[in-house]
Amino acid sequence: MEVKIIRSQNRRKTISARLVNNIIQVNAPAGMSEEKLAEAAAKLKERIEKRLQKRGLASPADLYAVAQKLNQKYFGGELKIESIEYSTNQNSVHGSCSYKKRTIRISHRLAGMPEWVRDYVIVHELAHIIEPNHSSSFWQLVNRYELSERARGFLMGVGHHA
Ligand SMILES: [Zn+2]
Repeated sequence: MEVKIIRSQNRRKTISARLVNNIIQVNAPAGMSEEKLAEAAAKLKERIEKRLQKRGLASPADLYAVAQKLNQKYFGGELKIESIEYSTNQNSVHGSCSYKKRTIRISHRLAGMPEWVRDYVIVHELAHIIEPNHSSSFWQLVNRYELSERARGFLMGVGHHA
């Protein structure tokens, strides 16, 4: 997987990594030496890839490409998506969308569910770029996705908030 390193003035010592648009983003302190950074980044990369493999996400779908396809099909390609990523720290919800930043996170568990269910959650979060609340106009947007009803049923069946 591709690794992108971002040096930050605000960081003193810690280095961290996350998966964004299928790229491993490593955040490192500005002052860290190249040598130390390369070593730490390689370790983080290995750890992330191992973790993904364990969860059956060895080759997670390119979420950004999926989101753009759904954007074309259901929103006329009009939405500006900043980023979309799998997140492993969402226990009660399947996805979330930052209305202002236009960033979307979906639960890593969706990777193990049928594609049409994952697509529903992405459409749901995409609709939040237009409508931050669950208003009736929001549901009108979501229901453009033909399998909305079925997907909500599926998600309820697995026992989570849809
Ligand atoms: Zn919602």
